[in-house]
Amino acid sequence: MAPEPEAEPLNLEEIEALLRERLDEVRARLAALKKPPERGSGIGFGKRIGDGTTEAIGRFNDVGVADSLEAIESRLERALEKLDDGTYGICDGCGTKIPAGRLRSVPESALCVQCAS
Ligand SMILES: [Zn+2]
Repeated sequence: MAPEPEAEPLNLEEIEALLRERLDEVRARLAALKKPPERGSGIGFGKRIGDGTTEAIGRFNDVGVADSLEAIESRLERALEKLDDGTYGICDGCGTKIPAGRLRSVPESALCVQCAS
């Protein structure tokens, strides 16, 4: 097991690149989810009822996925904002420093463990 690299300072440029990469990915997935279903993939004439049911469940799940993607998107945007204004690593809730280990595992954290729970 490698020792916890807690003592190493955070590489903010690396974190920013990572956050932007994830934001691009999340936005691409959201765009794909939100575009109207392609011709022929929706519930059409001549389809069996079973197909329509599956389709409805599929769409329902997509809405849930889009919601959580939007939540992730806003967290990533907030983290990038914090990098910009120099408050990255400071808890939005109580103003204490967020441990580097937490930022390493969840780089989009804007809250410390206490405020997040
Ligand atoms: Zn806090």
